[in-house]
Amino acid sequence: MGRLLLLGNESIARGALEAGLAVAAGYPGTPSTEVIETLMKEKDRYVEWSVNEKVAFETAYGAAISGAYSLVSMKHVGLNVASDALMSSSYTGVEGAMVIFSAGDPSMWSSQNEQDNRYYGLMALIPVFEPFDPQSAHDLTVKAFEFSTKVKHPVLLVSNTRVNHSRTWVDVGELKPPVWGKLVKKPQVYSLVPAIARGNREKQLKRWELITEGVKEFNTIEGDGRKLIVTAGVGYAYVKELVEGDVRILRLGVSVPLNREQVLKAVEGVEEILVVEELEPIVETQLKNILFDEGIRVKVHGKDYVPRVGELTFEKVGKAVSKFLGLPFVEVKEPEVKIPDRPPALCPGCPHRSSFVDLKRGVVKGGLNTTFFSGDIGCYSLGVLPPFNSQDSLTEMGSSLGIANGIFRATNTVPVAVIGDSTFFHNGLSGLANAVYNNLPVLVVVLDNRVTAMTGQNPSPSREIEIEDVAKGLGVEFVKAFDPFNVKESIDVISEATRWVKENKKPAVVVAKRACALDVLDKVDGELPIAVVDEKKCTGCSICYDFFTCPAITVGKDKKAVIDQVLCIGCGACVPVCPYNAISLKGDVPKGWDEVWLS
Ligand code: SF4
Ligand code: SF4
Repeated sequence: MGRLLLLGNESIARGALEAGLAVAAGYPGTPSTEVIETLMKEKDRYVEWSVNEKVAFETAYGAAISGAYSLVSMKHVGLNVASDALMSSSYTGVEGAMVIFSAGDPSMWSSQNEQDNRYYGLMALIPVFEPFDPQSAHDLTVKAFEFSTKVKHPVLLVSNTRVNHSRTWVDVGELKPPVWGKLVKKPQVYSLVPAIARGNREKQLKRWELITEGVKEFNTIEGDGRKLIVTAGVGYAYVKELVEGDVRILRLGVSVPLNREQVLKAVEGVEEILVVEELEPIVETQLKNILFDEGIRVKVHGKDYVPRVGELTFEKVGKAVSKFLGLPFVEVKEPEVKIPDRPPALCPGCPHRSSFVDLKRGVVKGGLNTTFFSGDIGCYSLGVLPPFNSQDSLTEMGSSLGIANGIFRATNTVPVAVIGDSTFFHNGLSGLANAVYNNLPVLVVVLDNRVTAMTGQNPSPSREIEIEDVAKGLGVEFVKAFDPFNVKESIDVISEATRWVKENKKPAVVVAKRACALDVLDKVDGELPIAVVDEKKCTGCSICYDFFTCPAITVGKDKKAVIDQVLCIGCGACVPVCPYNAISLKGDVPKGWDEVWLS
């Protein structure tokens, strides 16, 4: 027992350890990543970064059907990747405990959508636990494991950025030894051929009844009055700050499913109800169903008062609650000083910047004046911004190759698919196999920075498996790697590959190999070299700051380039970019510098 200052995600990890977690797997994705990162420090449990969320899910599921306590972690969109396995897991149930943690990103701070994963709970018949702060994240995680064991069913733990990335003091308990499984074969349960699946469906519905009855213990009815606020997740934290006095609150630790008896108790004598929940009207719809079935005529406000778009804020909930209670709401004044917009930028020294510059020149030199850049998800998504404009689409992990296929089939335009190394292994392999299988003339550019960089330099399979070997193994005939900092070599390789694709009407793969700059800085100690501009040679042509756009390079007097000595990490990428040889590196490189960049 004790108190620790924890992030919401660290609280979830801590709760899992206190519950007896043995096996954890996940795929990194903001805002979920710190759960697995925290668990990785425990040596007596098995914890892995898997190649994608489906594999991570199956790893945790495999452990749980052997009786172990397991957790799988991912961001909200990751559950789409794992959803095939998710649906089946609900049919079979588990022997031990399985907690599926999925962190949502309302307002899309670093995601392509803000889907509400509580729908998966309704669709798959899996109960949804929803914490409202780091303490409740810890407590509900412990309870989610206990509940999963009790009902022999996977449970879903959903949260959002505000909960995952808030830090506060958390009361914690003792760690429990891991609960491992033992080999028990039950093909009559776990082999979902139709005859078995039909039987499992009946059992699943019986478990769902048990679950619906059991969720009562995670919800509380607080306060009293003729007005009722039903709330879940972070909405509860805001409501508690706003409401005192004659208001009844039904706080839902589990928002799917609702327990009819508990709802009826909460609405007894109530004249009006407000549902405060983030994103979709999941609680609202379930609540209205129950009231309709019971013939109870009471006005329910929900998405008419609380926005369906974006994350909840104190202001949004404040407005809704005051409208509901008929009280004035004093809005917090916006600060008068407007902070200038700062568009996201690739880091100083990021190899992707060089890759995008080389790519544009290479494909044009290779005779492809018009193309469609079919992009993907990763740091290199920033290639969508000027001056690169090299991501004409990017929709989900692994989308680059599939969309490229559609573009070519519909328009006959030879596309360029841009994908990262981690994403290549996550979901790009099947797209590449399809390109070989169906003779898609596509230039595939794998930006291999040796890590899953976007989420904080988590490991990538590219450290263990050479992408060139994989591409050749899948039948790609033209495969070459290049160093994106070597401009001449890069342009030559890209243009040669482009010509080859056009002539042979088949896919070619080129791999831009250079380590993530942040990873290099983590691994190398010592004084770094610094780039400097020779004012006499600089003509102010603007190529380095307008077209190369390293954040360390800005424009000075007479349009001449100036390099910020604090931001510059001395990567040297800008040196060959200047056509007037005005940029050079000053100082010695530290020990192991070149090796780490190219390892
Ligand atoms: S590319 Fe060279 S010449 Fe052009 S602005 Fe930059 S430093 Fe000056
Ligand atoms: S060496 Fe050039 S490209 Fe590298 S960080 Fe410094 S200014 Fe940017």
